[in-house]
Amino acid sequence: MIGGRPPAVIGGSPVSQAIEQLRQAFPQGVEEGASLAPHTAARLGGPAEVLLTVRSGEELQRAAQLIWSLDLPLRILGGGSNVLVADAGVKGVVVLNQAKAVRFEEPGVWAESGAFFGSTARRCVEHGLAGLEWAATVPGTIGGAVVGNAGAHGGEVADALVSADLLTREQGVELDWVTWRGFYVPGGISEAAYGRWVDALTRVAASPAWTTARDRYGLEPFFLTGDEFRIAVEHQVEDFRTMSREIGLLK
Ligand SMILES: Cc1cc2nc3c(=O)[nH]c(=O)nc-3n(C[C@H](O)[C@H](O)[C@H](O)COP(=O)(O)OP(=O)(O)OC[C@H]3O[C@@H](n4cnc5c(N)ncnc54)[C@H](O)[C@@H]3O)c2cc1C
Repeated sequence: MIGGRPPAVIGGSPVSQAIEQLRQAFPQGVEEGASLAPHTAARLGGPAEVLLTVRSGEELQRAAQLIWSLDLPLRILGGGSNVLVADAGVKGVVVLNQAKAVRFEEPGVWAESGAFFGSTARRCVEHGLAGLEWAATVPGTIGGAVVGNAGAHGGEVADALVSADLLTREQGVELDWVTWRGFYVPGGISEAAYGRWVDALTRVAASPAWTTARDRYGLEPFFLTGDEFRIAVEHQVEDFRTMSREIGLLK
């Protein structure tokens, strides 16, 4: 429009165009200017420019990828029990995470990140699973608890978490998981968080439950952490590189 006001822009995308794309992808989930106060424990704060409610892990993944592809700012809101929202509100898209599926699968529990942490912990007790008893009254979601390493009464998430699927802007899903080779963490992890994982895995390796699982699945009693593990992986990478050169896959 000549002489008119340019469209509002966030992160390089005209907002109206971006909202239209979000609406097409999530016909039921998009609200413009919705107040965030009802979604926080403090019941305070202004509106989200766009509030997008997702109800499954698949929707959460799709939402994140679309928002990133539109170059919009993205924030995840779980139970809102550890945030204070400014009265001015939040620019960009706030994704309200209501992906709540929980499955009990031997020997533990699998949960989507929007499942309530406290009620999942209580259900674990009902299923005879130990490790989250301390969390029975912690408000918020599993995702919020993992991000903040929630803790109470001497327990913390890092003690009980086995694995987490991480959504990343660059790669889509980055799967961090326990394999026979080890436990892979994201590249940008802090020293403190890395240290916590090393401590947690050292305790797992020494536990009777791990010894039983190891025996059951025929795994060797092989355990490395920290620099030792890194060096072992680097040696393996070098071996694969040499082998790949020898058979002509690498020049
Ligand atoms: C009454 C009360 C008691 C509490 N007691 C405890 C306690 O005993 N121990 C304790 O540790 N904490 C406690 N808290 C704090 C709070 O419950 C925890 O920090 C909780 O884990 C936050 O989860 P949430 O889903 O509410 O996160 P939110 O408040 O919604 O979000 C917190 C942060 O995590 C991010 N986030 C949330 N979900 C995701 C996700 N899926 N992916 C990526 N980022 C995400 C958000 O973007 C935000 O930055 C308490 C809070 C209240 C109000």
